[in-house]
Amino acid sequence: MAVEQLQKQPATDISQYEGILVVVEQREGKAKKVSWQLLGQGRRMADKLGAPLIALVIGHQVEHLAQEAIAYGAEKVYICDHEYLKDYRTKPYSKVCLNVFALAKPEIVLYGATATGRDLAGAIATHLPTGLTADCTELDVEPNPSRLLLASRPAFSEKMMATILCKKYRPQMATARPGVFQALLPDQTRTGDVINVPFHLESGETATRIIDFISDTNSVNLEEADIIVAGGRGLGGPDALKLLQDLADALDGTVGASRAAVDAGWVKHERQIGQTGHTVRSKLIIAAGISGAVQFTVGMQHSDLIIAINKDPDAPIFQVAQYGIVGDLFEILPAMTVEAKKRRGMA
Ligand SMILES: Cc1cc2nc3c(=O)[nH]c(=O)nc-3n(C[C@H](O)[C@H](O)[C@H](O)COP(=O)(O)OP(=O)(O)OC[C@H]3O[C@@H](n4cnc5c(N)ncnc54)[C@H](O)[C@@H]3O)c2cc1C
Repeated sequence: MAVEQLQKQPATDISQYEGILVVVEQREGKAKKVSWQLLGQGRRMADKLGAPLIALVIGHQVEHLAQEAIAYGAEKVYICDHEYLKDYRTKPYSKVCLNVFALAKPEIVLYGATATGRDLAGAIATHLPTGLTADCTELDVEPNPSRLLLASRPAFSEKMMATILCKKYRPQMATARPGVFQALLPDQTRTGDVINVPFHLESGETATRIIDFISDTNSVNLEEADIIVAGGRGLGGPDALKLLQDLADALDGTVGASRAAVDAGWVKHERQIGQTGHTVRSKLIIAAGISGAVQFTVGMQHSDLIIAINKDPDAPIFQVAQYGIVGDLFEILPAMTVEAKKRRGMA
């Protein structure tokens, strides 16, 4: 759209819009954790606004996710369940979203900043005369009368935080990083309204067809991992990665790393935790040979249980860890692996 046209665009009547809508992301009927994390933060913000929290579930054979969304805090769920929507495709999914936004008129829409969420939100933003703040690490709202979404994200090479506002148009939209917000504890006794949305597609409306889905077994998904074994510069070189992998295998976990280990070329960036890597909320994270710089801890400090291994008793990582082991990781990691295997009957 030309700049001149944009300037002529009339401002939306924002008083018609109410509520916070979270687009639930799922794959094969299993929701991504970020969806429940966004409902958790959405609930906190909706309460501040005195507004409803709405979820949108799209897919095939996903009725159970409507109930799950209610347990995680939504009071109203729009669901569009159709064979054609089994796998994510930009056009059909964005069409459903646009229909539901027209029906529900939410003042705020949130998506996970995953590959799918980013694609979907970007596609929708091109159809609506409103803004989209990508990759947020903080979300809040100003109460009445402004009811503005305060969407914050790192800017200028992550050196500053910028808070971005969308004052004149609705819905205010943001994608938010997985792992940053805390999901509510699911409450199965909660009740809510479930609204079925029909799905229609005109012939020729979608140019893509899914022939097959081949999952990348080598890809790493730290944000979804319950157990992470992470290493840093203290590993001393790439050979020590085997110690992390052995313990991760014994615990059914995933290997993560500090930036120092990534910058040294020992580990791929996809495994980096921290400000310029992934934010994780695992059930357990073991940090070995990592000093605990704030840029690392900001990405893992909300994990349920943190165990740190460091030979320096004054390492800052011990300040965020529930259990600290002062010692040499080359002795401690193999000992933990032996013990884990023994306890899990793998020895
Ligand atoms: C803008 C910006 C963004 C950044 N983003 C990130 C980020 O996303 N993630 C990140 O991790 N960092 C990030 N950093 C870098 C961060 O500041 C630290 O430099 C980095 O986290 C240090 O990594 P480390 O703890 O592995 O290494 P070090 O700080 O060097 O710590 C190594 C630790 O290993 C211990 N050790 C050594 N040998 C052993 C042994 N044999 N057994 C046990 N312990 C041992 C040492 O006592 C030491 O505490 C960022 C920095 C900037 C400026």
